Amino acid sequence: MSHPHTPSPHHPAAPELTVLDPATEEVIATVPAADAADVDRAVTRAAAARTAWAAAAPADRARLLRRFADVVDAHVEELALLEVREAGHLLGNARWEAGNARDLLLYAAGGVERLMGRQIPAPGGWNVTFHEPLGVVGVIAPWNFPMPIAAWGSFPALAAGNAVLLKPAETTPLTALRLAELALDAGLPEHLFQVLPGYGAVAGRALVDHPGVAKIVFTGSTRTGREVMERCAARIKPVTLELGGKSPNVVFADADLKRAVDPFSFLDNSGQDCCARTRILVQESVYDEVADHLARELAAVVVGDPAAEGTQMGPLISRQQVDRVRSFVPDDAEALRGSAPEGPGFWFPPTVLTGLPSDSPAAREEIFGPVAVLLPFTDEADAIRLANDTPYGLSGSVWTRDVGRALRVSQAVRAGNLSVNSHSSVRYWTPFGGFKQSGVGRELGPDALTAFTETKNVFISTEGPAQ
Ligand code: NDP
Repeated sequence: MSHPHTPSPHHPAAPELTVLDPATEEVIATVPAADAADVDRAVTRAAAARTAWAAAAPADRARLLRRFADVVDAHVEELALLEVREAGHLLGNARWEAGNARDLLLYAAGGVERLMGRQIPAPGGWNVTFHEPLGVVGVIAPWNFPMPIAAWGSFPALAAGNAVLLKPAETTPLTALRLAELALDAGLPEHLFQVLPGYGAVAGRALVDHPGVAKIVFTGSTRTGREVMERCAARIKPVTLELGGKSPNVVFADADLKRAVDPFSFLDNSGQDCCARTRILVQESVYDEVADHLARELAAVVVGDPAAEGTQMGPLISRQQVDRVRSFVPDDAEALRGSAPEGPGFWFPPTVLTGLPSDSPAAREEIFGPVAVLLPFTDEADAIRLANDTPYGLSGSVWTRDVGRALRVSQAVRAGNLSVNSHSSVRYWTPFGGFKQSGVGRELGPDALTAFTETKNVFISTEGPAQ
């Protein structure tokens, strides 16, 4: 137990962040926490750096971003191992995440020379539009996918000619700090991409409130996202918000059931995934078959050391997250369960709750752990009603061999990212974001850079001198 007068490592009063390995609870690093004065100094430096960056030739900006991608590529293994240690990710997943950051840099670099305006017909002159960079962009990232989410906010913003200040989550600052070092190694101008590790209530809030920060990109909980949006509203500051999810997996009786009820559709990253398919909606005629299949699959999931070969699920990020997940799963809950290690580390067994009403908190709220609910539906209309019966609208899957029904259901479900006969959600070259309380705006995809620009319209008169 901590002494009552000693600030806990995760309390804003502590001058340092303490980074733990979630599989062992060992301290792996301490990092000074940025305060409001640090944020203010970083904004001043970034504002100076971004002026030269915005004025540089597009080909030069693109070349530097491609060089940054090359340097990230040469450090994929190092970045992946860092992600395993600070976030408890499986090594294979972490390698994919570092590769995703590299690939997004290349994709964004390709956009620099294509950030084109339009020529719009207007009488008496030429009318043209420009996409001008915003200035200094603040990116606030969460702990569940520290590297990719930091990249999704930061790299398109840099490519569009902005400077970026990135605040990683207090539990996972290490990959972000390393990416900023690699940017300098690649030759990106100093102060263009700065990382400000710190507490959300201090460094995060200071970024949101700072008049020199032109836009905030926030990924995290809907509760904190609402606060960020309110504070930005006070300054008319634009925001992109990627918030929570409670995504449906709609399984009709004619589907390929084994693929449709793949437990890793909600267990990947220990369920700490805003796109996790945690509402498994199954047509009632195959409900028992699906429940039997899931019971066998959950019992076989290998949970343990994320760095070990053959591990299928690692720990959760923190004790706090384990407690939060447990609050949705009482010991006597009707459930299908796998197993998890005992002892040090932040573990929770794969779990599917059964027999719950569709309006219970576990069926409607984001749990953010390896826990899904299994709910039966009668027909297509009932499936659509249930799929839409949450405040969220981020992602979802529809499984059926009937192509007309697949199209009808994917049009009727109010969510930003749907897959038919697939559980995939995110590609760096397609747009990503949520409906309803899952967010505002889109990241990634062909329009990623324009989200970090203002559109300027200029009319140029062609009238000659008065006769
Ligand atoms: P938060 O939304 O609070 O944190 C996300 C980021 O915002 C972190 O960098 C955090 O810093 C920062 N932050 C916190 N408070 C503020 C603030 N007032 N102003 C500006 N920035 C702030 O998520 P939690 O880590 O508390 O996780 C709680 C729950 O949120 C999870 O159980 C899950 O349900 C959901 N969540 C959803 C995510 C998603 O991708 N949809 C991602 C992460 C969480 P700090 O790390 O210091 O708190």
